[in-house]
Amino acid sequence: MIPLMNVKEQFASIQSEILEAIKEVAESGSYILGAKVDELEKKIAQKLGVIYAIAVANGTDALILTLEAYGIGRGDEVITTPFTFFASGEAISRVGATPVFADVNPDTFTLCPTKIKEKLTKRTKAIIPVHLFGQCADMSAINELANQHNLLVIEDACQAFGAEQNGKPAGSLGDAGCFSFFPTKNLGTLGDGGIITTSDPLLAERLRSLRIHGSKKKYFHQDIGYNSRLDELHAAILLICLKHIDSWNLERKKLAAIYDSILKTIPSVTGPHAAKNNLHVYHLYCIQTEKRDDIANLLQQNNIQCGVYYPCCLHLQQAYTHLGYCKGDLPVAEHLSETLLAIPLHPFMRTEDQNAIVEFFKKNKEVISC
Ligand SMILES: *Cc1c(COP(=O)(O)O)cnc(C)c1O
Repeated sequence: MIPLMNVKEQFASIQSEILEAIKEVAESGSYILGAKVDELEKKIAQKLGVIYAIAVANGTDALILTLEAYGIGRGDEVITTPFTFFASGEAISRVGATPVFADVNPDTFTLCPTKIKEKLTKRTKAIIPVHLFGQCADMSAINELANQHNLLVIEDACQAFGAEQNGKPAGSLGDAGCFSFFPTKNLGTLGDGGIITTSDPLLAERLRSLRIHGSKKKYFHQDIGYNSRLDELHAAILLICLKHIDSWNLERKKLAAIYDSILKTIPSVTGPHAAKNNLHVYHLYCIQTEKRDDIANLLQQNNIQCGVYYPCCLHLQQAYTHLGYCKGDLPVAEHLSETLLAIPLHPFMRTEDQNAIVEFFKKNKEVISC
């Protein structure tokens, strides 16, 4: 089976460096929020062109702690996309606020600024655009809307480390950027991790306290906080991955370009659309087709793994029944949940594997198109 992704091979490629780093941390006696975490925070802030980066336990916590640090909670509304991983909405609910789902652009699959506008109320406090599959949402329009209505913009950049818009990195485009270091993300570790990027000094200070039980001085607590810290081991591993992330992302881009050119010749299947001001880092490569289930079956018969991201929109999840949305409320997102299919793409993909997939599309062009 040609795998959809292959993190095992990615980490194998830097295994000796990782083992060396693990040994170094083991011998250091410092295991949580130490020198490696400091170094990682500085390097990521610098790379993304922001002043602060605050490491936490995972990407979901990055969102939760940011909302909490901004004082968003009960009675507040936060607008986000229904077409994302559940955590984008879950974080809003977790702090007691109400997620309000606005439909997405049909071409980029990201939050549509016009649809956001229709959902604004007196209670709206923030917008969480999600940089889905490695491509930034339309941040110029979203920021302009946020400025007009005095709203915060929190980027869910969990799938987009290294992505850019108008030459500026994801994570530097809003008031705060939230990243996940889950193993399969573009920048991942051998476990869970996350980070928040911002140039807002007050937010950075609140986050540094919230992640460690609401405490600035040991055993003195000014807030009810969380235990949401990054381990030194993960920081050490991430510092190694950080040296490779640009070349890994470049490899993803090259593989995507090869898929793009073959898919252009098949009218019934559409490749992902990268907006022209966006640098897309292809966390996932999703094709769009009305014959998704047939193509998925055919791919599997040919030993090619594929995956559905995402089969159920957030507004139609059982957990959100109480919000009262119905099927048909957000038609663009719902249509995407029925027509998108991810095909294998990862930085360590073998040329012969991609060739086999290209051949699959050539060979089945007629079957797929009729
Ligand atoms: C992965 C992901 C998250 C959550 O990150 P975790 O580290 O798994 O908590 C949030 N939002 C999006 C869009 C993601 O892809």
